[in-house]
Amino acid sequence: MAKNLLTINDLTKKDILDLIAFSNNFIDEDGNFRKEDLFPDKIVANVFCEPSTRTKMSFAVAAGNLGCNVLDFDVDTSSIQKGESIFETIDALNLMGVDLCVLRHPESVIRDLAEHLPKMVFINAGEGSISHPTQALLDMKTIIDHKSDLDGLKIVIVGDLDHSRVTSSFVEGVSNFDIDSLVFCGHPEMCQKYQNTDFGIYEPDIDKALKDADVVMTLRIQYERFEKDLNLDLDSYKSAYQLSTEKLGYAKGDAIIMHPGPVNYVEITESVYDSENSVIRQQIANGVAVRMAVLSRFLSS
Ligand code: ASP
Repeated sequence: MAKNLLTINDLTKKDILDLIAFSNNFIDEDGNFRKEDLFPDKIVANVFCEPSTRTKMSFAVAAGNLGCNVLDFDVDTSSIQKGESIFETIDALNLMGVDLCVLRHPESVIRDLAEHLPKMVFINAGEGSISHPTQALLDMKTIIDHKSDLDGLKIVIVGDLDHSRVTSSFVEGVSNFDIDSLVFCGHPEMCQKYQNTDFGIYEPDIDKALKDADVVMTLRIQYERFEKDLNLDLDSYKSAYQLSTEKLGYAKGDAIIMHPGPVNYVEITESVYDSENSVIRQQIANGVAVRMAVLSRFLSS
């Protein structure tokens, strides 16, 4: 396995399946996480230069469950506020003996950092709109938990795909499998990258897109990534793309509904979020198990 997890493409199909199988060992029969003092001599720094709740906290919980020392780097009170670069910041952590850096950054800095600081392990926890490999792992684990396999499934992704690193890493991850079809759906201005791709087909009509779907992944509008003001009429957006109980009726009865969070209830109604089909809260718990597996593997290699 590669030394760092910079993109989901650093993992082979076997690595993906092994990590998912390994993550299952960290959840007991009652759904609790196993706590094991496996890495008491390792220091993990969580460096998040963009907002996060699930990813940041689940990496902290995962590292704590494995017995690591966890440093929660607070960008707002760090010397980044005094003009220090991300390179000098991470180099300082490296010189202090941090073994592994979990990094979220709006720009693509992680590859350069990994190259210049070979002693440190880097795990990408979100890179602009480009990459979010541990999210793809937890999404694939959640699907396998419910459908036992990725092969043969019809998977639909609805929402603001262009700004979604969740989508890009998921699409790369599932391209290792024999899924039946991958359908991209959403406002044409939010799906420009997905209208002409070999990975799947673009279908702007949500009723058609959802037909017989096994898995529906919904995504919020990522307002913070739009370069110009979004002149959007929310009511017409909702009537065209919000996943409602009525629209869900086009998918298979046992379709699972996913969302990486945070949920804005523009892209999905509260009743679909709370429905039996929704596995959104399980995705959050799976995030801890998957990150325990990832940290264990990459701290051991
Ligand atoms: N939490 C996910 C991410 O960090 C999705 C989102 O923010 O909408 O990309």
